[in-house]
Amino acid sequence: MDVRIGTTVDGRAAGFATSSARPLLLVGDVGRGKTTTARYLTRWWLANTRRHTHVYAQAPSEWADLRCEPEHPDQLEDPVGRDCRPGACLVVVDDMDLLDDSRISFLPLGRARTILTSHGGNSLAGRALLDSEVDCLGLVRPDHADPAEAAVLDGQGRLDWPIGTVAVIPDQRGPMDFPCHRWQAPAGAWAVAGAVGR
Ligand SMILES: [Zn+2]
Repeated sequence: MDVRIGTTVDGRAAGFATSSARPLLLVGDVGRGKTTTARYLTRWWLANTRRHTHVYAQAPSEWADLRCEPEHPDQLEDPVGRDCRPGACLVVVDDMDLLDDSRISFLPLGRARTILTSHGGNSLAGRALLDSEVDCLGLVRPDHADPAEAAVLDGQGRLDWPIGTVAVIPDQRGPMDFPCHRWQAPAGAWAVAGAVGR
């Protein structure tokens, strides 16, 4: 089953293939909805209370309202532990660009559902990740697109995105999917995020 996240330039539904072992990589410029989309998918995953997530984010507090204990990407080490029931984990790295090469091998590629976000593909080119199979969606803004996005909307590729990236206009999201602010976080969750530090 797929969770829909938006529409491709040629009008097809695009989403997260929940049964696929391939990581979902979301690329796009700042403000195109990468974190929002990743949060939406995480909320969907956690709606089944038998499942859990391991979140690594540049700004852990943006995730503090969700049932997870976000950490900075520097903290990534085997996220899927022995106590994790098979199939129960979703691993999210919000801002792959911060993950140094030595940590890439800790990604549970093919072992757990994985969602990654990145500003662009260039910073990932040549890194081990792209040698493996990923489903890459490039988020674009349909209105007031910048020239590179206008070209994408015309069906052209984009040099700073991985080859095979599918351009997607993300669906509008509600406030619960937007990055969380300090005053929106439950007190306990904020203490956890605060302890991790920025
Ligand atoms: Zn787990």
